[in-house]
Amino acid sequence: MLPDIRDYEGLYARFSWAVPEHYNIGVDICDRWAAIDAGRPAVIEVTPEGQTRVLDYAGLRDASNRLANALRKRGIRPGDRVAVLLPQGHAVPIAHVAIYKLGAIALPLADVFGIDALRYRLGDSGARALITHAGGLAKFADAEDDFEHPDVILSIDGPDAGAEGFHEASAAESAEFTPVDTLADDPALMIYTSGTTGNPKGALHAHRVLPGHLPGVSLPHEFMPRPGDRFWTPADWAWAGGLLNVLLPGLHFGVPVIARRFAKFDPEAAFRLMADHGVRNAFIPPTALRLLRSVDNPRGRYDLALRTLASGGEALGAETFAWGRETLGLSINEFYGQTECNLIVASCAAIGVSKPGMIGRPVPGHRVAVIADDGRICAPDEPGQIAVARPDPVMFLSYWNRPEATQAKFIGDWMTTGDQGVMDADGYIRFVGRDDDVITSSGYRIGPTEIEDCLLRHPAVSLAAVVGKPDPVRTEIVKAFIVPRDGIHPDAALADDIRDFVRNRLSAHEYPREIAFRDSLPLTTTGKVIRRILRDEA
Ligand code: ATP
Ligand code: MG
Repeated sequence: MLPDIRDYEGLYARFSWAVPEHYNIGVDICDRWAAIDAGRPAVIEVTPEGQTRVLDYAGLRDASNRLANALRKRGIRPGDRVAVLLPQGHAVPIAHVAIYKLGAIALPLADVFGIDALRYRLGDSGARALITHAGGLAKFADAEDDFEHPDVILSIDGPDAGAEGFHEASAAESAEFTPVDTLADDPALMIYTSGTTGNPKGALHAHRVLPGHLPGVSLPHEFMPRPGDRFWTPADWAWAGGLLNVLLPGLHFGVPVIARRFAKFDPEAAFRLMADHGVRNAFIPPTALRLLRSVDNPRGRYDLALRTLASGGEALGAETFAWGRETLGLSINEFYGQTECNLIVASCAAIGVSKPGMIGRPVPGHRVAVIADDGRICAPDEPGQIAVARPDPVMFLSYWNRPEATQAKFIGDWMTTGDQGVMDADGYIRFVGRDDDVITSSGYRIGPTEIEDCLLRHPAVSLAAVVGKPDPVRTEIVKAFIVPRDGIHPDAALADDIRDFVRNRLSAHEYPREIAFRDSLPLTTTGKVIRRILRDEA
């Protein structure tokens, strides 16, 4: 997708989209490879005991065709929403490919969702079918009766409580299926936003969303695919980051994707997995990277084969970037985007697009700017809102059933992100904070990201989140919630020391006047800090 030109300006200037009019994600990521390299490994599942099970492209084609036939027989038609509630494993790509080839709409749901989160998304989307496992069914079993189930439920763990067996239903069908001839602009996928700021909204995407992601994945992974590449993310494949930045592009590029169920992110287990299974390309969100930072001497203790390491979804920050260089010998490349239009800004150290503390530059193919409220493009270093111009292949079609919200997302042809940022004279973008997270104190507008990054530099700090607390004199004061490193017992003296640490490094108006120590921070299922909850507690 991306020619191997080693200068950013050349790449950006010469880039043009080549999205065909007729395009189907399922055909692209599965049938195309099955026809030319049937035995190529697509997904390598690692069991909790450390055994591997390989799904090759011929297996993926046959299993997805059988499932597509089974879904069609049960009444699923193009445009119907089919929910996928599964942990990482073979069944996820089989389900997605089947849904795309049917012309239906995949609705990924995170496996850690509780019943209320599931009820909301299944109800809002009007899902007609659900593909899940015993763990998913157990959540519904506990729900009250007012819950309207999708008509069709298939469980990969066999028939149970109102669900048919996924394998049993598939086994009864033919392995031949003629994919629906979809247009690149036809809906394929609906992903709910993380709900960091309010109720999650269903962002409906067309088949073109995958080709739209490919340059953005290839660049931070330093021109993926390269021979020997092997892809892994601890993120749930239901999240835009896990699905569209790892699983689907991995399958498109023919790069094997490692699948492993983790109940909870465990830094030692993550290093062990990467070492034991020769992971060469990892996509690890910032909070998980900060947990990896607590592991001593990983390169001495684990035989790592990493070629590229990327991160995104929340601010990476200069401190975590520096840790990557020093401890892993790798430049962590950042991704920036949102469910509605993902991966539009990125860094790629291999071509020199990398500045500590900055998210990067617009990915070739995307027109990204920092704009003022009236849509005017800001001057270099002038703060404003990060925005991306339409048309753009990764841009969503609409929010599901929310025409007003869809319209409100745009200023003219600019899709607004609700994120404050600054573009410097070299075209690098700095992330300041979400609109709602920006703190107003004594007349200053303060982004939490810079303060959190500074707090992480303090030797006693493992995780940090900063919010504004209402204050009669200053409008708001900066309040920090801090998770100390293992073995540290926080007290008032430590809080004073941390306050001084920030005051000396940033400025007198940015240091946290209040500090609260916590054992953990409230996180979304995608591992992002929910500052909204901390604000309520402040
Ligand atoms: P909701 O829209 O429901 O409140 P959300 O915005 O967290 O939830 P996502 O679409 O998953 O849901 O997240 C996109 C947001 O994540 C971006 O708008 C931005 O605020 C943040 N983000 C993504 N990448 C980065 C990054 N590299 N640096 C800083 N923030 C990032
Ligand atoms: Mg959002």
